[in-house]
Amino acid sequence: MTALSAQALSARHERIARVRSRMEEEGVDALLLSHGADLPWLTGYRAMPLERLTLLVLPLTGDAHLVVPGLEAPRVSAADELFTLVPWSDAEDPVELVGSLLASTAGRPGSKPRMAVSDRAWATTLLALQRRLPDTQWIEASTVTSHIRAVKDAREVAALRMAGAAADRVASMLQNGDIPLIGRTEAEVSGHLAGLLVAEGHSQVNFAIVGSGPNGASPHHEPGARIIGAGETVVCDFGGTFSLDDDVGYCSDITRTVVTGTPSSEMVETYQVLEAAQRAGVDSARAGVAAEDVDRVTRTIIDDAGLGEFFVHRTGHGIGIEEHEDPYLVRGNHEILQPGHAFSVEPGIYRAGRFGMRLEDIVVIGGDGAPEPLNAADHSLVVVDT
Ligand code: ZN
Ligand code: ZN
Ligand code: ZN
Repeated sequence: MTALSAQALSARHERIARVRSRMEEEGVDALLLSHGADLPWLTGYRAMPLERLTLLVLPLTGDAHLVVPGLEAPRVSAADELFTLVPWSDAEDPVELVGSLLASTAGRPGSKPRMAVSDRAWATTLLALQRRLPDTQWIEASTVTSHIRAVKDAREVAALRMAGAAADRVASMLQNGDIPLIGRTEAEVSGHLAGLLVAEGHSQVNFAIVGSGPNGASPHHEPGARIIGAGETVVCDFGGTFSLDDDVGYCSDITRTVVTGTPSSEMVETYQVLEAAQRAGVDSARAGVAAEDVDRVTRTIIDDAGLGEFFVHRTGHGIGIEEHEDPYLVRGNHEILQPGHAFSVEPGIYRAGRFGMRLEDIVVIGGDGAPEPLNAADHSLVVVDT
């Protein structure tokens, strides 16, 4: 792995400072990061999900240490800059190493030490840490990281824009008929979309859902052997990871529904409701608005058209290093949107046994508080009769 750029490093120093002030507020004595997106977000290092222990030990004050399996050490950049590398050999007990690094971490007067551990750490890791440090309080690392991570800095927004534009080019090819649909299986079309995501600059494909005809009514349909016919809706929802220079990648995620031939009047009318709901949702997503309010805006339009029972999921999810992260646009989430929040707006209408449709863009809240959609591919029900 090549070294992080000066910009990428200074972003990490800023994030660590913000994380530490949040630890202070939450009374957290040490942050312990294993697998998952928090570690690359904070250090630029993405741990492979091995059974061997990887753990960043970041105390509230004092030096940070990254405990890694010795054979992974060559993949770690940014050592010395952000943390001291502590490689362990297969003959050593890494939990013992972590325990000794935390030996001087006392709790505040009158309380036990409080450790925040990766939400995505293996259960075996946490159980071993609990046995080694019995007199300790344990909480999720997301308590410290998720609200900070949800607000993207300029570099992160730039990466999301590049990812969105790349996904958009693939969506436009789909709508232009460059990806034949009729007579092919969903799996073939899915493979074609995946190949184009990579050709357009993604380093990795995360998913390429193709749900044709009745299969479109299952929101996360697994593309299979069904052959796409004429006059059907085809829900295509795809995304991947896009990297700026050598830093950690950011995700794209877009859905366009197309129709293979003349749509029925019911399809046309249903799609009009969907498109209006999605547009109103995007327009409403402004700084100062609660995340749940965007969900209410899309849902009210679909409800008012009498189709509410067929919109079976939340309106959207945050996006960044992970495809799904905070903030979630869902009833009950009172989090106030602010500049730098990035998320999908993706209402859908699913008629079991017949057809489904979904329309999804990624939106980032700009510095002026207004929504900036990162996807611009045609929002209408495009006919693709090839
Ligand atoms: Zn989804
Ligand atoms: Zn999607
Ligand atoms: Zn999505």
